[in-house]
Amino acid sequence: MTPKKFAYFAPASLKEAIQLLRVNEDAKVLAGGQSLIALMKLRLAAPAALVDITKTGDLLSYIREGKGHLEVGALTTHDTLERSKIINKKFPILSDAASKIGDQQIRNRGTIGGSCCHADPAADLPTALTALESEFVVRGVKGKRVIPQSKFFVDTFTTSIAKDEILTEIQIPHTPPKSGSAYIKHSRREGDFAIVGVGAVVTVGPKKVCRDVRVSLGAVASTPIRAKSAERHLKGKTLDEGNIAEAAERANEEADPPSDMHGSRQYRLDMIKVFARRALNLALSRAR
Ligand SMILES: Cc1cc2nc3c(=O)[nH]c(=O)nc-3n(C[C@H](O)[C@H](O)[C@H](O)COP(=O)(O)OP(=O)(O)OC[C@H]3O[C@@H](n4cnc5c(N)ncnc54)[C@H](O)[C@@H]3O)c2cc1C
Repeated sequence: MTPKKFAYFAPASLKEAIQLLRVNEDAKVLAGGQSLIALMKLRLAAPAALVDITKTGDLLSYIREGKGHLEVGALTTHDTLERSKIINKKFPILSDAASKIGDQQIRNRGTIGGSCCHADPAADLPTALTALESEFVVRGVKGKRVIPQSKFFVDTFTTSIAKDEILTEIQIPHTPPKSGSAYIKHSRREGDFAIVGVGAVVTVGPKKVCRDVRVSLGAVASTPIRAKSAERHLKGKTLDEGNIAEAAERANEEADPPSDMHGSRQYRLDMIKVFARRALNLALSRAR
C-alpha cells in the first residue's frame, strides 16, 4: 500500500520544526522513518504533515559526556550506538539492545529518539534505558524540560511528550565503579521483536554484596517496567548463584504480559525468569 497524501516539511532549525508542529494540525516528527513510514504505508497512521528533523542545522546525533551523565542526541542511530566505544565501555546494555534491533538497514536509519517516542512496549532501547533510569530532554515552544524515565513512557505507543515538543537528548546517569549492565532479548528469530526483553544493571560492593541492582522488562506490559520484587530480593545480598536464581524467580511478579501469536502469557511469564537470570549473570560478569 502507499501512504495517504501528506505535506512534507524540512525545517532548517529545531525552532522552526517546533513552530511547524504547533501550527500544522495532525503533524508528526519524522526521524529515521523506520516505524512511522511503515505505519503510514499500512495506513495505520495517516498524519497530515511530516516535519523532518534530520535536515535541521541543530545536530542531534552525538554521544558526549555531560555533568554526571552521558548525553545521547535523539538522532543517534542504532548502528552508532552499537559501535560506539564509549557506549560499549560504560553502558554495554545499550550496545546489546541496539545490536538486536531489526536488521542492518533498520539500524542504519532508525534512531534512539524515534524508538523512544514510538514507545512500542516490545522495543529494545526503551527497556534498556529503563534499567539505566535515563532522563529525556524535550524542547517545545515554552523551552526545554527534562522528563524522568518513570514519567516518559505512559502507555502502549504513548509518551508524555506534547504534540509540539521534540525529544532532543537522552541523559544516562553514570553508574558507580564496579557496575555492569546487560540486555538480553528473547525472540523467535534474529531481528524479530522481543517476546521478552530483560535489562540488568548491577553494582558490586565489598565482599561481593549487591550494592545496587535494577532489572527492566520489555514486551510484558503496556510500557517497559522495572522488576522491583527481584531488585528488592537481591539488594544487600551476596551476588551468588542462589540469590541471583531466587531474584530471577521473582522477576515476573510485576509483569502483565499479553498472549499473542508469538507466545502465551504463561510462556512469557516463564521466559522472564530465564532471561532475568541470564541478564543478571552477564551484568555481574561485566561488573567484575
Ligand atoms: C522490519 C522492522 C523491524 C524492527 N525491529 C525492531 C526490533 O527488533 N526492536 C526494536 O526496538 N525496534 C524495531 N523496529 C523499530 C525501529 O527500531 C525504529 O527505528 C524505531 O522504532 C523508530 O525510530 P525512527 O528513528 O525510525 O523513528 P520514526 O519512524 O521516524 O518515528 C517514530 C515515531 O516517533 C516520533 N518521533 C521520532 N523522533 C522524534 C523526536 N526526536 N521527537 C519527537 N517525536 C519523535 C515520530 O513522530 C513517530 O511517531 C523495527 C522496525 C522495522 C520496520
